[in-house]
Amino acid sequence: MNTVHVRIGDHRTKYHTDADCPSLNGKQDTYMGQDSMSEDQAKEQGLTACQRCKR
Ligand SMILES: [Zn+2]
Repeated sequence: MNTVHVRIGDHRTKYHTDADCPSLNGKQDTYMGQDSMSEDQAKEQGLTACQRCKR
């Protein structure tokens, strides 16, 4: 089971396989931190895979 990373707060539409992804850590004005969950859980929440992350 893959663990993925998601933003907390706004702009939470993608999940990230790379914890250092710029899309995950950017937009500091709305950045509230990040959370991790299984990839299946992220998909259940309607999140889609980030295209900037390198697997
Ligand atoms: Zn990403």
